[in-house]
Amino acid sequence: MIQPVAVIGAGPFGLSTAAHLKARGIPVRVFGDPMVSWRDHMPAGMLLKSTPVASNIDAPQQGHNLVDYCDDAGIRRLVTDEDLVPIETFIAYGEWFRTKLVPELEQVRVVSVDRHQGGGFELKLDSGELFTARAVVVATGLSGFAHVPAELAAAVPDGPDPTSPVSHSSQEHDLTRHAGKELIVVGAGQSALETAALAAEAGARVRVVARGRGKVAFGSPPWKQPKLRPESPFGRAWSLWALSYYPHPYRHLPAEIRHYLVRRVLGPLGAWWLRERFEGKVQVSEVDRIVRVDAADGSPTLTVRTLAGRTQSLSADHVIAATGYRVDLAAMDFLGHELRTRLAVSRGAPKLGAGYVSSVPGLYFTGLPAASSYGPLMRFVCGSEFASPRLARHLAAAHG
Ligand SMILES: Cc1cc2nc3c(=O)[nH]c(=O)nc-3n(C[C@H](O)[C@H](O)[C@H](O)COP(=O)(O)OP(=O)(O)OC[C@H]3O[C@@H](n4cnc5c(N)ncnc54)[C@H](O)[C@@H]3O)c2cc1C
Repeated sequence: MIQPVAVIGAGPFGLSTAAHLKARGIPVRVFGDPMVSWRDHMPAGMLLKSTPVASNIDAPQQGHNLVDYCDDAGIRRLVTDEDLVPIETFIAYGEWFRTKLVPELEQVRVVSVDRHQGGGFELKLDSGELFTARAVVVATGLSGFAHVPAELAAAVPDGPDPTSPVSHSSQEHDLTRHAGKELIVVGAGQSALETAALAAEAGARVRVVARGRGKVAFGSPPWKQPKLRPESPFGRAWSLWALSYYPHPYRHLPAEIRHYLVRRVLGPLGAWWLRERFEGKVQVSEVDRIVRVDAADGSPTLTVRTLAGRTQSLSADHVIAATGYRVDLAAMDFLGHELRTRLAVSRGAPKLGAGYVSSVPGLYFTGLPAASSYGPLMRFVCGSEFASPRLARHLAAAHG
């Protein structure tokens, strides 16, 4: 029997990769909860920061872009940079893409992946089934990578949770639960600022606590972008253009530079359209650092060092750490011990070669875990346009 390729993940990258492999005639088994990160781990009512053209899940055939979904669903076409994409529309687009191109998706979890004695990989599913795959594509996205800084985590020994004084933003889908309450949101990225605006609109009294002066900032609207710089899915700038269209050489840069760029390029900045929903509605404390959080009586109090060097206390009913995601192979607990020890890593992320293959032949990574090798583009849906065809081509040549 021909062994299939296993694709672990049914978010934008997993679905896109599976569609490309199938188009090459490669048998696949695809696992995961479709679009779950978007459905359960982002706030309801969110608008995508990415523009419609930068929100396409790449497919090998034409007719599967966001605008094609809009036409098929009979809803208003989302085309220009000023058309904002509601998260509900994007989730429906992902489901539509899955139904059309990956209908055989299996909604089960992969519990373990190990090397198989006779070659390939042995996978165990939470249905109890064991099977062998000739290659494995890991497209598990944000799963398991939520990051809470130590000073906030210390206040919640059992881990962040919506029912404890501190949660991570990925645990806050329904912000209306904070209506009438005092809420602190820690962070300065789009996720922090949009979470704060949505919670304020739902009736919470919200304060954003961000580290550093001028850290809470918003991008320029499309009509104010500099005209003489090249266009990219993220705005007009030479750096963004190079990282968007030429990520090939990225993995050859020194590790320090790669990790710096992944963190800094397209780093914390609110979307242009969020400014008017935020300013005047959300309080902002720009601080030098958060010293600690006390939550002995169940209500959190942040002790911060101000930019002027003083100590200040900030109290609330709840703190949301909108402090992002950190790739860490250790969090991919489904990867067997032997595989993990054989994988070359760079600061917790797998080191990938041409075609997104790791140091273990047949084991591929795409999406966020590929960002330290292929650049910040991999953190966004539009990175699938670069990644999926290349990964599928490499896999077909090596294992087809
Ligand atoms: C608040 C927020 C807003 C964002 N906004 C944007 C935006 O506007 N535009 C943009 O381009 N990007 C945005 N992003 C980034 C975006 O989330 C990622 O680019 C995208 O989701 C990555 O897709 P993915 O397919 O790699 O992973 P995910 O979408 O995270 O999907 C992971 C998949 O893996 C599956 N999975 C995990 N573990 C297992 C397992 N053991 N077995 C089986 N399946 C498993 C899950 O079920 C799921 O199907 C945003 C992120 C956040 C947090």
